[in-house]
Order: sequence, then C-alpha cells, then structure tokens
Amino acid sequence: MRALTLLLSCLMLMAFRPVFTAEPIPPQVEARMRGSSYPDGATVSLGELRYLRLSYYDFNGVPQTGEMVCNAAIAQDLLEIFQALYEAEYPIRSIRLVDDFGASDDASMLADNTSCFNYRLVPGQGNLSRHALGMAVDVNPFENPYIDTKGVIRPPEAAQYADRSRDFPHKIDRQDLCCRLFLEHGFMWGGGWARSKDYQHFQK
Ligand SMILES: [Zn+2]
Repeated sequence: MRALTLLLSCLMLMAFRPVFTAEPIPPQVEARMRGSSYPDGATVSLGELRYLRLSYYDFNGVPQTGEMVCNAAIAQDLLEIFQALYEAEYPIRSIRLVDDFGASDDASMLADNTSCFNYRLVPGQGNLSRHALGMAVDVNPFENPYIDTKGVIRPPEAAQYADRSRDFPHKIDRQDLCCRLFLEHGFMWGGGWARSKDYQHFQK
C-alpha cells in the first residue's frame, strides 16, 4: 500500500506541468470578482487587469498552480518573478484570489495567502491601496505581517512574527530570494518603509 502511494505521488509529480500565463479576465473569473474584489464603482477597469495562472511549491514541497489578478502593467514582471521562485522551489503557502476569502484582506492574510488585486482602502486610512489597482502583491502574509504606524500588527494572530530580529522559516528580508527578485524588477518593498512596516508587500 505504501509503495502504491509512493508510486502515485511520483506519477503526480512527473505529470505536473508548471504554468505561467497571463490573459484578460475570463468571464467566469469576472463573475467571481464582481461585488467582491471588484465592487460597483471601482475606478479601475477590468480591461486594465490580467488573470494569471502561476505554479509554485507549497509548504510541503508539492507543486501547485494558483491564480492571481493583477494590473496588466506588472503582469510580465509577475510571470518572471513567480517562474524564478518556482524554479528555486521557493515555498509559498497558497496563491488564491481574495474572492475565495470573501474579498477580506484579513481572512486572506490569516490563511497566509499570497494575492494581488483587491479593490480596497489602506487599513485605517481613507486612500485606495495599491492593491486596488492590482499594482501590489502580498507574499506569505502570515509570516510577514503588516505593522502600521501605531504598531498595530495585521493580522493580529501573527504577532509572533513581528520581531524581525528573530530567524524563522518563510521570513522575507533583503536576503530573501523573493524580495531580491521584486526589487530587481523595480518594485518597492514594504519592509523597507520608514514608518509602517509591511513585510509581505511589494508594489510598483
Ligand atoms: Zn500589501
């Protein structure tokens, strides 16, 4: 039985074909986004957005294919960055649309989900987030929380990861491959900001 399980997992691995594609938002994806990550009155048009399929290695080292919505302006960057991460077997918990989490940034972060587009405001502020334009990506957000100017940690459950002098798996810092790739592609890293710290966040 164990040999059979091993054989099956080997076959699955052999059958896995990584995918890195960008396309206009397909109708089924639009249906999931409307009234969710893409509310009525959103000032970004769907035509400016792209639907990506991105393969990655999960925290168990198993290859998976996820989905992401981003601005067309950064689609090529993201294809190249996530392909490089895949080739390095860089572990990512999951890459799912925030619509799978009711477009709740808190729920998506709590699930440690990597995502990009969400038409929302900056938490605690009145201005639109770069995520609202699909110009920002959050990677492994639970291990890489957002700490606002008042020191509030988001998600609050990730308080143990707020101390960046500690070493732990999936920590994003300047030596981290993911961070280096985003910087090479001209993104800014939220972990380098002077006042708030957003360790999961890369924006262009
Ligand atoms: Zn972010």
